[in-house]
Amino acid sequence: MNQHPTVTVSRLIPHMTEKMAARFRALPFQPQSAIIKVVPYFTGDADGNIAAFARPRDYHAVVYKLTQNYEHELSAQYPNMKFLALKNGWPLPIVAAANMCGLGFTGRHGMQIVEPYGSYVALSAVLCDTLLPETSPSDTCRACGACERACPTGAMRFDGEKRVLNRERCIASITQNPDTDISLLKLSPYIWGCDICQKVCPHNQQVKTTDIPEFYERIIPNIDATALDGDLSDRHYASRLDLIKRNLEVIK
Ligand code: SF4
Ligand code: SF4
Repeated sequence: MNQHPTVTVSRLIPHMTEKMAARFRALPFQPQSAIIKVVPYFTGDADGNIAAFARPRDYHAVVYKLTQNYEHELSAQYPNMKFLALKNGWPLPIVAAANMCGLGFTGRHGMQIVEPYGSYVALSAVLCDTLLPETSPSDTCRACGACERACPTGAMRFDGEKRVLNRERCIASITQNPDTDISLLKLSPYIWGCDICQKVCPHNQQVKTTDIPEFYERIIPNIDATALDGDLSDRHYASRLDLIKRNLEVIK
């Protein structure tokens, strides 16, 4: 079992918010270990105004399906143990969990880097009722500062080793939020998410593309006003086309 990236759940409890802890206590069994699942979504580089995570159809359902498949594989392999697939890692502090079990490391830009996929990954987990051997932490961020220098709005800065992200200046956040200063959107081409700090990271050069077929089904790297008349119901931003329209108006 130690080939699976595994962390002991009790080590994650200090990293949980109140809401996570409450949800955690209500799980159908009290888990001892978490096996972390990585789902790469990068389909290749192409110009566009939609961030890489939102170019394929909404990744949440794909990630959950793959995590459930992982749960079934583990249950078949270890019939005396109980397993439970989580939806996108909730309620675990999934980034801390991935760091502790050696499934990559957090870059200074705040995203999880998992070689050979760089930071173009989603994380989830399968919980287990049995205490399993942990896997060890891996490499770390090179602290080169390229992500910080490339940020067009100065949203990211470092206080010693600690990253401080000003969400009100972060384009990834502004594009998805109705109540922010939208004038900053003019500083990037993005209208949903922002990949600028990820694109410059040395760990994101020549990354391996995903081999998950669902992510190649209908890639939309770029949206313009005419695309809004088409079918966007399977997109991450499907319920916020009002924001897409607003953002397009700002950057045109
Ligand atoms: S760009 Fe440099 S500092 Fe930023 S996450 Fe990547 S390696 Fe770390
Ligand atoms: S996502 Fe974009 S705006 Fe936000 S910190 Fe990274 S580069 Fe800056």
